[in-house]
Amino acid sequence: MTVPSSVPDRHPTRVLVLNSGSSSVKYQLIDMAGGARLATGLAERIGESASWLTHTPDGGEPRVRQLALTDHEAALKAVAEELSADRLGLDSPRLAAIGHRVVHGGQRFTAPAVIDEEVLAQIERLVPLAPLHNPANLTGIRTARALNPGVPQVAVFDTAFHSTMPEYAARYAVDVATADAHRIRRYGFHGTSHAYVSRATAELLGRPLEDTNTIVLHLGNGASASAVAGGVCVDTSMGLTPLEGLVMGTRSGDLDPAVVLHLSRVAGYSIDEIDDLLNRRSGLVGLCGDNDMREIRRRRDEGDPAARLAFEVYVHRVRKYVGAYYAVLGRVDAVTFTAGVGENAAAVRGAALSGLEGLGLEVDPVRNEEPSRRARLISPPDARVAVAVVPTDEEMEIATQTYRLVFDESAPFEPG
Ligand code: ADP
Repeated sequence: MTVPSSVPDRHPTRVLVLNSGSSSVKYQLIDMAGGARLATGLAERIGESASWLTHTPDGGEPRVRQLALTDHEAALKAVAEELSADRLGLDSPRLAAIGHRVVHGGQRFTAPAVIDEEVLAQIERLVPLAPLHNPANLTGIRTARALNPGVPQVAVFDTAFHSTMPEYAARYAVDVATADAHRIRRYGFHGTSHAYVSRATAELLGRPLEDTNTIVLHLGNGASASAVAGGVCVDTSMGLTPLEGLVMGTRSGDLDPAVVLHLSRVAGYSIDEIDDLLNRRSGLVGLCGDNDMREIRRRRDEGDPAARLAFEVYVHRVRKYVGAYYAVLGRVDAVTFTAGVGENAAAVRGAALSGLEGLGLEVDPVRNEEPSRRARLISPPDARVAVAVVPTDEEMEIATQTYRLVFDESAPFEPG
């Protein structure tokens, strides 16, 4: 990460990043002049009888409080109080903007947007495409605007980075009129992570972003792969929803769509039951009962056959996407692992790329096992294709995009 030698004093430099879920709000207050996290926190179980606020000031211990957070307004007020107690009040003139994570931007939003009534209406119109996420994001935005009316607010969309996919990658091969009538196409998700990680990979390699082709493997509880050519996304594994693609913690990823028909016609499942099965009871959890890769590895090492199969199905899918995106890109400079599994599970990284020396892909076993929180290479020094581990930082990406949009210029430093 490059830190600026001088900090401009003409603008306020703090950005509050909010990620509002239906019953939780995650937040970070970031100082864009240097990149310090001034505070991070999580309000959870909003609307339930006992809610929790965990607030961690920069360099301090977490403060955990049980509160009655009846709604998002109560939660954001409690967050503001915690920040004020740390002399980081949101009424400070140093607060530059609030950046909101919004899951679905549809085809309308190909870039972040300063929020006004028109933008809110557009996000509302996208609710049918993300019925669980966009309403929660909207609630967070509306509440934050009401509480901080003088502060510019920006929506940063999970889908936007993928909007550059060529039409042939974004289209499903279904009847065009039906697809268009219902906005059925591949949108992709985790875009802020893929954007951040592909840029950080170019920086790690010391190459211009415009001349770097990267396969990004975001392996968290949700998981997605992307093919990024010169900083531009050309394909990604998630589609209309985050269900498509890789095997995930609880989601199936790719399957024959006729599985849905079969479950309905033959097994008598309702649509909601199928939704529950594929989104919450499939993936690693469906295969072996656990969705935590640490536990799966422990069980596999003890000889548990279900855990072994879950590991193999997971890794096989990752490998297939690496091969597919190698072909899509033609020339690959780096394969980069990120998110909880990608950053921590050396066994997954090693297994996913084993036997691919013919493609120039090699993992150095010693480098792969070295524990580190930093962006690093795990391929041998003379490898044709770099294999990297880059910790993702979606909050920093949202803060950076927010800052740039509000001030129409580069952030005072370049996050790596
Ligand atoms: P989310 O999609 O919820 O943001 P994360 O990126 O935090 O997910 O990833 C969470 C997952 O990362 C866990 O479910 C677990 O499988 C995996 N994980 C976290 N730490 C480790 C570790 N040390 N070794 C292996 N897997 C890990």
